[in-house]
Amino acid sequence: MREALTFKGGIHPLKSIHYGKSLSEKSAIQELFAGAVVKIPLSQHIGAPGKAIVQAGDEVLMGQKIAEAGGFVSVPAHASVSGKVLGIEKIPSVTGKPADAVVIENDGLYKKAYAEPVDFETLEPGEIIDLIKEAGIVGMGGAAFPLHVKLMPPPDKKINLLIINAAECEPFLTADYRLMLEYAGRIVYGTKAIMRALGVQKVIIGIEDNKPDAIEVMKKAIDTHAIRVAVLESKYPQGSEKQMIDAITGRVVPSGGLPMDVGVVVSNVGSVKAVADRLLTGEPLIRRVVTVTGSVGKPSNFMAPIGMSVEEMINAAGGFEGEPMKIMMGGPMMGNAVPDLACAVTKGTSGIVVLNKSYLAKKERETECIYCGKCAQACPIHLMPMQIMAYAKLGDFDKAAELGALDCMSCGSCTYVCPAKKHVAQYIKLAKDEIAAKKAAKK
Ligand code: SF4
Ligand code: SF4
Repeated sequence: MREALTFKGGIHPLKSIHYGKSLSEKSAIQELFAGAVVKIPLSQHIGAPGKAIVQAGDEVLMGQKIAEAGGFVSVPAHASVSGKVLGIEKIPSVTGKPADAVVIENDGLYKKAYAEPVDFETLEPGEIIDLIKEAGIVGMGGAAFPLHVKLMPPPDKKINLLIINAAECEPFLTADYRLMLEYAGRIVYGTKAIMRALGVQKVIIGIEDNKPDAIEVMKKAIDTHAIRVAVLESKYPQGSEKQMIDAITGRVVPSGGLPMDVGVVVSNVGSVKAVADRLLTGEPLIRRVVTVTGSVGKPSNFMAPIGMSVEEMINAAGGFEGEPMKIMMGGPMMGNAVPDLACAVTKGTSGIVVLNKSYLAKKERETECIYCGKCAQACPIHLMPMQIMAYAKLGDFDKAAELGALDCMSCGSCTYVCPAKKHVAQYIKLAKDEIAAKKAAKK
């Protein structure tokens, strides 16, 4: 086998006990049915929140649109069950701020209002993009950026490569891995539809070398020379867009730039499968694969309706095992801490990871920076994290900005490797927030 492709920097959490994929990787995707109610947030993506088009008392069908897109960078939301709208209420969210959600009482009948299936080869590119937007499809790797926006680059940005991101480099998560094993045909179909929408002739599916069976299954499912699999080194954050583009093409996305600046569009493998679902069955994005793992009775991969609560998901996976110390939505590296078990599964929820004390590093006292440079070696963006941290601590955020603080993607690699146990990434996050607040105040 050819040597796996990679990028400079990053870390190898798979060598630590925190890696955790073995807990759920053998768990085939199980369909989960919603409980008595679902609470579907209006803001599940980057961009403007959706605008509700239903009200208390309305009867809705599964797949029916319940919110319009709130702008160009926004998507509609759809009911994940059939039943009666109880109202729009504030529910807790991982952002820390309560979020508006459409609450639907589940009638248990799952009566559908799906659109008609359609063969993408009969559609013009613009029609495929409209259909993707109307189905509410966003990036399902965690960032939740509306997919149709990526497929409409400005005319001066010529796209010549589509990358399907199937790295799943975060510890513990196995949702994309199971999706490839169980839905390879759909992934290839959705990939071809996006190729047509974008007008590109070349696609590379990036998969880490710790998933050899998924690599084989995907290679077998591919029936065109236009699509191929690239084997990537298993390293965090390999699944970050810029690092994946660097590893596969050697192209470097400029500071503050986007993949389109180097002729690339990157889409998560889950989003590609969602495109195929819409085309083949008419189903909009109303459910997704979620890995529920860590300190739970039965780590599992579920096909879960959007709007189920974190508590219901954990109960479905056998409940807590031991005392939970931390619950993450997404992976333990770049995910968000869950402040309340009433938070809902959204389109971007790739996993729910419960960590008890056996998983969490013992709290160790921060000591002085010894200028070992390990944080700089690990930084995939090639920043000097220790210097940005030092200026952030001094409150000199202009200097932190000069050193590229805004390019930091909060991957946490610097904190992970620091022998002085410094919360490097957290200090840099503080600097980013201060710089952003200052910019906003100037507007
Ligand atoms: S890894 Fe920690 S101790 Fe080493 S230079 Fe960076 S901040 Fe300092
Ligand atoms: S958190 Fe930011 S500074 Fe630290 S390694 Fe990641 S990108 Fe670099």
